[in-house]
Amino acid sequence: VDAARAAASQADSDAPTLFDKIVAKQIPATIIYEDEQALAFRDINPQAPVHFLVIPKDRNGLTRLSKMDESHRALVGHLMYVAQLVAKQEGLLPGFRVVINDGPEGCQSVYHLHLHIMGGRQLTWPPG
Ligand code: ADP
Repeated sequence: VDAARAAASQADSDAPTLFDKIVAKQIPATIIYEDEQALAFRDINPQAPVHFLVIPKDRNGLTRLSKMDESHRALVGHLMYVAQLVAKQEGLLPGFRVVINDGPEGCQSVYHLHLHIMGGRQLTWPPG
């Protein structure tokens, strides 16, 4: 938790993130879905038996959800579409959770918009 909080204290920035390197296949990731706009890959530090991330290949200014404007509506809708598609592909028929961390208080550490999809066990509520 402390490590996540420390990482999340990084400032929002337009600098490329490690997710750009995953998109460019310069660093390895277990990619489980890809199309022209979106990429899904397994989280390196899973918080559930199934934990993957869905990102826009081109961040398009979306360092965080709160940078969204009307021009991003179709893209963000597509990410949500991909989230449920890959969740079913991963066998999460009994249910799953979709999370977007925004900013320091949201514990965001990578400033490239991403959806967390978690499942494969009974989840609890509320999160920390
Ligand atoms: P937090 O780190 O607090 O969960 P974020 O919502 O920004 O904040 O999530 C970033 C996610 O990216 C984390 O779940 C982390 O485990 C994951 N991650 C970091 N580096 C990699 C990587 N190289 N490959 C896959 N997932 C990664």
